[in-house]
Amino acid sequence: MKKTYLRCRIQGKAHVGILEEDRIYSLTGSLFQNPEKGELLGTLDQVESWLPPTDPSKVVAVGLNYRDHAREVGLPIPEEPLLFLKPPTSVIAQGEPVVYPPVMTKRVDYEAELAIVMGRTCRSVSPEEAFDYILGYTCANDVTARDLQSKDGQWTRAKSFDTFCPLGPVIAAGIDPSDLEIEMLVGGKVVQHSRTSNFIFPVNVLVSHISHVMTLEPGDVIITGTPAGIGPVNRGDVMQVKIEQIGLLENPVK
Ligand code: MG
Repeated sequence: MKKTYLRCRIQGKAHVGILEEDRIYSLTGSLFQNPEKGELLGTLDQVESWLPPTDPSKVVAVGLNYRDHAREVGLPIPEEPLLFLKPPTSVIAQGEPVVYPPVMTKRVDYEAELAIVMGRTCRSVSPEEAFDYILGYTCANDVTARDLQSKDGQWTRAKSFDTFCPLGPVIAAGIDPSDLEIEMLVGGKVVQHSRTSNFIFPVNVLVSHISHVMTLEPGDVIITGTPAGIGPVNRGDVMQVKIEQIGLLENPVK
């Protein structure tokens, strides 16, 4: 059964909640252990600000996981997932601004991505076991200083500026991630549009692969690559990542 979790501030207090239609209920237990619905906290229009839906110890990112994007950048289909990391300090919430770095870069790009949120400690699991370790899914924007990606030869600086990993607004649990529509809109105009059925490596294969490299902790995030249509943003633009069954992640560029 689908469940929707969120973290937000209502009347000055931070809450982890369960969303049902527009009503937010408190969570008894924790997100990672028997989360159950508690008392009514309020409704969506009473949310003062959003918090990232999870505080990951790490964000593991996958480069080149859509066939359409591999074609777009003229690269062969990879034989195994290409991994990199984004630091937890890059994570921001729904509505928070992505800060355009004032020095170092002259091109900042959006990348709409499906994010996996881990629910249990996960090490060396098989693709068949992997779904048991996933809590749910959220929207991510893998913001990238594109000019630094090629200049540096590796991706740490390009991917790691503060605010370069918007996540949210909610975690959708109990959904099938294998064929979800995913879009990026900039200023209301669709610039990326694909489906997760175009993944080169499906969700459970990614989790299994990464778990053979590093231990995944509850709350850790895997962002699963971006589809074709990457491009730059400017200060003042509003970016929106829209994923079927999850929601709309909106962040301005400042
Ligand atoms: Mg990416």
